[in-house]
Amino acid sequence: MRVNTLKRVAVAFALALPGAAIATVIAAPAAYADGCYTWNRTLTQGRSGDDVRQLQIRVAGWAGYRDIVENDGRYGPKTAAAVKRFQQAYGLRADGIAGPQTFAKLYQLQDNDCTPAHFSYGELDNGCGGSGWSGGPLSANQTKQNALRTMWKLEALRKGLGDKPLYVSSGFRSRACNNQVGGASDSQHLYGNAADVTSRTSSLCQVARGARNNGFSGIYGPGYPDHDDHVHVDSRRENNRDDSSNTTSWSAPDCGVGN
Ligand SMILES: [Zn+2]
Repeated sequence: MRVNTLKRVAVAFALALPGAAIATVIAAPAAYADGCYTWNRTLTQGRSGDDVRQLQIRVAGWAGYRDIVENDGRYGPKTAAAVKRFQQAYGLRADGIAGPQTFAKLYQLQDNDCTPAHFSYGELDNGCGGSGWSGGPLSANQTKQNALRTMWKLEALRKGLGDKPLYVSSGFRSRACNNQVGGASDSQHLYGNAADVTSRTSSLCQVARGARNNGFSGIYGPGYPDHDDHVHVDSRRENNRDDSSNTTSWSAPDCGVGN
């Protein structure tokens, strides 16, 4: 958001048809110059491109129960269904088409650095007090991109839990940091692909159950060893660089959450 006020003035064209006494005035739709990203066309099923990919990053948290939205730049049925859930959640007309009203809401939700309103790079990059995105198996840029996708899913989880704050106690970890805290050797935290979450308003079980709807293929919470004081969420199915099998792995036995 923030730059939304830089709305460009709509240009009006006055076309006088030869021989006609009526002048037709066509007002172009207001174009937004958003600080993070600006979409320039309405997106529907069948479209493809980087603008679709940018949309997918922001609606992946609305994938629906046990599903994921691939970040492949192709607007298929799953992207449309996610857009529809996003629209429903924010009180927009739910047609599964990403047009001006959907983009306006996304502009409102995103900060100039492209993070969603309620999460920041600083929060996701707090591993062992370090800063920066290096020291993991991916490039710093790839790691940061994963963290951004994680944040948009967290924004959806937060919305689903009634718009109350969620707290990230651990996000990206370098290898050194991961060793220090005793993380799994191929932890999703190394990839910027995971977050450990707590809440002061929802129970951890509510968080763990809710996360099943937000594109998180990895969920560990109460009842899973060492996860009684936070819920771990990650996107392992989309991670082709790790050693896991790109399948869903859920375990919060005290909450009825399992595979
Ligand atoms: Zn974790």
